[in-house]
Amino acid sequence: MTGHLDDDDAGRTGSGPAEPVVSLTGVGRSYGRGAQRVHALADVTTAIGPGELVAVVGPSGSGKSTLLHLIGTLDRPTTGEVVVDGLRVDRLDDRKLSGLRAHRIGFVFQQFHLSGGTRAVDNVADGLLYTGLSRRVRRERATEALHRVGLGHRLGHRPHELSGGERQRVAIARAVVGDPALLLADEPTGALDTRSGAMVVRLLRELHESGTTVVVITHDTELAASLPRRLVMRDGRLVQDTGGPSTAPPPVLEHT
Ligand code: ADP
Ligand code: MG
Repeated sequence: MTGHLDDDDAGRTGSGPAEPVVSLTGVGRSYGRGAQRVHALADVTTAIGPGELVAVVGPSGSGKSTLLHLIGTLDRPTTGEVVVDGLRVDRLDDRKLSGLRAHRIGFVFQQFHLSGGTRAVDNVADGLLYTGLSRRVRRERATEALHRVGLGHRLGHRPHELSGGERQRVAIARAVVGDPALLLADEPTGALDTRSGAMVVRLLRELHESGTTVVVITHDTELAASLPRRLVMRDGRLVQDTGGPSTAPPPVLEHT
């Protein structure tokens, strides 16, 4: 790795087609000091390739959200390296991190995180606030995104006028309206009934099929089992990685 840290692409480590979208090397995240110290994440090493659909599973408190926050550059590691979209997260200043987040990463949360009292179309258009696009274009793109998630007939509805499933579809539209490379979802079906949850999952699959890299935390074992790859967390450690490229058997080396 050659680091030209003083140029405009500080920390960019390459952008060949085979580059992972996310790579973590020996990543740890601790909170607090002394006896109060909590190792939320310890020594996690893994990579996620472009176009993958990955489930993150594990008991409550096992470090899933901490992991997703680090991948999403909402947080920095205490130890180790986090590379997202070719950029070393731990070496970027806050302004560059915000730029990376705004342009390349979309987030979906269990509790939707929509602005109350704001129309669906404007909630989604807010996903483009930092793009420099005009308000009119942002609204046009938001309208398209809402059509894509099946809510073309709810453009003017406020969150309290929508069902939970519809709110989550608005949140997904907001997350993907800027066409991010990476979509991160933290228990997106956790607050939904089975039917709305299934619709949200279908939407994540469609986005994956159209090329977006998706990482989804879920408690739903059936959903996790149906996804191509699963990262299993326990006590802050990645204890199992099934189905993905990094679990392919190591090449057989000829010994001479
Ligand atoms: P999960 O999403 O798997 O339920 P989290 O990643 O939220 O787990 O949390 C992992 C561990 O880190 C938990 O023990 C939690 O209490 C701790 N933790 C998370 N965030 C903080 C924080 N801001 N301060 C202190 N401890 C935290
Ligand atoms: Mg969590």
